[in-house]
Amino acid sequence: SLHNELQELRGNIRVFCRVRPALSHENSRSENICVRRFDDSAGTQTIDIQKEKRGSAPYTFKFDRIFDQSETNNDVFEEICQLIQSSLDGYNVCIFAYGQTGSGKTYTMLNPRDGIIPSTIAHIFNWIDALKERGWQYEISCQFVEIYNDVIADLLRNENSVENGQEDGHRNVRHEIRHDQENKTTIITNVTSCQLQKPESVEGLLRKANKLRSTASTAANDRSSRSHSIFIIHLNGVNKISGEESSGVLNLVDLAGSERINTSQVVGERLRETQNINKSLSCLGDVIHALGSPDASKRHIPFRNSKLTYLLKFSLMGNSKTLMFVNISACSENINENINSLRFASKVN
Ligand code: ADP
Ligand code: MG
Repeated sequence: SLHNELQELRGNIRVFCRVRPALSHENSRSENICVRRFDDSAGTQTIDIQKEKRGSAPYTFKFDRIFDQSETNNDVFEEICQLIQSSLDGYNVCIFAYGQTGSGKTYTMLNPRDGIIPSTIAHIFNWIDALKERGWQYEISCQFVEIYNDVIADLLRNENSVENGQEDGHRNVRHEIRHDQENKTTIITNVTSCQLQKPESVEGLLRKANKLRSTASTAANDRSSRSHSIFIIHLNGVNKISGEESSGVLNLVDLAGSERINTSQVVGERLRETQNINKSLSCLGDVIHALGSPDASKRHIPFRNSKLTYLLKFSLMGNSKTLMFVNISACSENINENINSLRFASKVN
């Protein structure tokens, strides 16, 4: 499979590009589409971005896999299925969606019908059923948190505080990250953990999280695009026949919008927000880049430079597996942000 081949070639970090189609209100005439994918005979996929209609050379980027406008969430899932499955074998896996606001990150991760999170939950139960025959029994629990302005909020917390009118009641609960260096595990203090017993239960969880996120949005203007959300699935297995144990963590991350906001044009809370987003995204890029370098084991990896990388430390290092989607839009009105996103992604790679 593509996954195994790439693993042999370049270790555990991959970057996929995903192009979303023009939406109904956007101009989808061909001259407004600036992105084209090319596959050469060796299987390399290249994306060309044409800045002017004619004449100038296109910007060119290569990726491990490029999902073009015609490919669906199911096509994406098929490609990453094996990576996700490896968390049942005890691997720690991180999947990120990076891109400007409106580029399709949330659609890729959370679309209720076929996004990566709902599909993962639906499939995990099938995989676990198959493993039962070989003696494996799994416990699955999940957490859903948001990192906003470098502060962690629990998206599965009890809604009472919201209904009581204290929409920011959760801010009073401090969440800290605790690493167990010996066992290489991480916990977030005071965070809600939900046992998943059946695939249907994820719907309710996502609905609840969404409600909490949108409540917060009215206070701080579309907060969901200004924060990172991390869906964490712990998969702990015991083999009743052999006594073997397995524990893997799957982290599914919808990153804050990567659009450049000129910090000279914003003040106060918005400035701090912008600085935090810029810092945490560039830190993530630095960490992944450092982990992918040939001398990674000897290098200092700057996990501590942001809460996101600090939280995910044990899911990024060692023989963890990391996949980053860089989401872009096919429309030429987004061309400059697209180029920024693709540059970021090729630096990571
Ligand atoms: P982001 O989370 O990056 O801000 P969204 O996921 O909210 O972006 O996507 C923006 C809009 O585009 C939404 O209306 C979403 O439904 C739509 N969209 C995104 N990706 C696709 C896709 N691959 N196919 C169809 N519609 C998409
Ligand atoms: Mg979004």
